[in-house]
Amino acid sequence: MQKILVLRGDGIGPEVVGEALKILDKLGAKFEIAEGLIGGAAYDVHKNPLPKETLDKAMAADAVLLGAVGGPKWDGKVPFELRPEAALLGIRKALGLYANVRPAVVFDELADASTLKKGIVSGLDIIILRELTGGLYFGEPRGIKEENGQKIGFNTLVYSEKEIERIAVDAFELAMARNKKVTSVDKANVLESMVLWRSVVTRVSENYPSVALNHMYVDNAAMQLVKNPKQFDVIVTENTFGDILSDCASELTGSLGMLPSASLGRTPDGKKRALYEPIHGSAPDIAGKNMANPTATILSAALMLKTTFNRADLHDKIYAAVKKTLAQGFRTRDIWEEGKTLVGTSEMGDKIADNL
Ligand code: NAD
Repeated sequence: MQKILVLRGDGIGPEVVGEALKILDKLGAKFEIAEGLIGGAAYDVHKNPLPKETLDKAMAADAVLLGAVGGPKWDGKVPFELRPEAALLGIRKALGLYANVRPAVVFDELADASTLKKGIVSGLDIIILRELTGGLYFGEPRGIKEENGQKIGFNTLVYSEKEIERIAVDAFELAMARNKKVTSVDKANVLESMVLWRSVVTRVSENYPSVALNHMYVDNAAMQLVKNPKQFDVIVTENTFGDILSDCASELTGSLGMLPSASLGRTPDGKKRALYEPIHGSAPDIAGKNMANPTATILSAALMLKTTFNRADLHDKIYAAVKKTLAQGFRTRDIWEEGKTLVGTSEMGDKIADNL
C-alpha cells in the first residue's frame, strides 16, 4: 500500500491538514497514513524541530503532506538553528526537494476576491517553479560576525551549473505540457550567480525549440505579475525570488489560503521524493479559531494524488468539488464578500467533501 506521511505542524497546520484528510477519506482511496511531528510541535517534545524519527518516516513514505510550521511561541525563544522554520529547510535538503511547483489558478467564482480588476485575473493559470535547495536560502558562508566592534550579517547567493540546469529542464518539461512559454526570472544585471543562471537556462532552452523563452529581471517580474499576469505560463526562478513572487501571485487568486504547492526531487538512492503543502504559513493570528481556509491544503492533497500517485482523475474531482463549493457561495473569511455565505474551516471542508 502506498504510504503518506502527514506532518500537521503548528498554528493552523493541524486544522487545514485535518480537512485535507477528510477529503482523502471521502474519496475512499486506500493509503497507509503515518503521522509525525515537525516544527514547534516537534521542538516542544524533542527539543528539535526535525527529529530523526520524523525524517526516518519521511524517507519511508511515498509522499509527505505538510501543514505549516512556526509561531510566536518559538520566535526568538529557541536557538536560531532550532527554530521551527529550520525544519522546512532541513526536510527539503534531506529529501532532495529542489523543485517547488506553485500553480496559481484563479477560480472564476473568485475573480472578484482579488484586489486586482477582474479582467486582469480571470482565467489566470500560471505556474511558478521555484528552485528550492540552493540560492540565497542555502548558500554558504552565512552568519553574523563581528568586525571592529560592529556586527555584520551575511548570506551568499550561490548556484552551480548543475543546479540551474535541472530546474531549467523541469521548467521546459512543464511548459511542454502547457502553453509552451518559459519566463526565467533573475537579476543578471547585478548578480554574477544570475549571469550564470541566465546563460544555463538559455543553453537548456536549445533542447526545447518549441518552447518560447524570455528573461526578466525580478523587479520587473514583480511589477508584471500584478500588471499583466496572464502573459506568463511557467516562471522559473531562484529560491528567494520564487518565495516572494509566489506570495504575490497568491493575491491574484484571492488569498494565500487558495494556493497549493508540490516540492519534488530525488534522494541519492534514486527514489523520487515529494512533499505537498499550502504556500501559506501557520497564520498564528487565526490559529485555533476555525477561520483558516483549508482549500490550499486540500488542493495540495489533490496535487499529491496527481503527481505522486498518478490519479489525475481524483485530482480533477477535488478541483471540481472546490469549484462547485465556491459556486454555491461558501467562503471562508479570507475570501468572503457581501452576499456570500461565511463558513469556518471545518464547514468548508465538509462542503467540499459533500460536493465530491
Ligand atoms: P502566514 O502565511 O502564516 O500568514 C499571512 C497572513 O495570511 C495572515 O494574516 C494569515 O492569517 C493569512 N493566512 C495565511 N494562511 C491562511 C489561510 N489558510 N486562511 C486564511 N488566512 C490565511 O505568514 P506569516 O504571518 O508571515 O507567518 C506566520 C508564521 O508562519 C511565521 O512563524 C512564519 O515563519 C511561518 N511560515 C511558515 C511557512 C511554512 O510552514 N511553509 C511559510 C511561511 C511562513
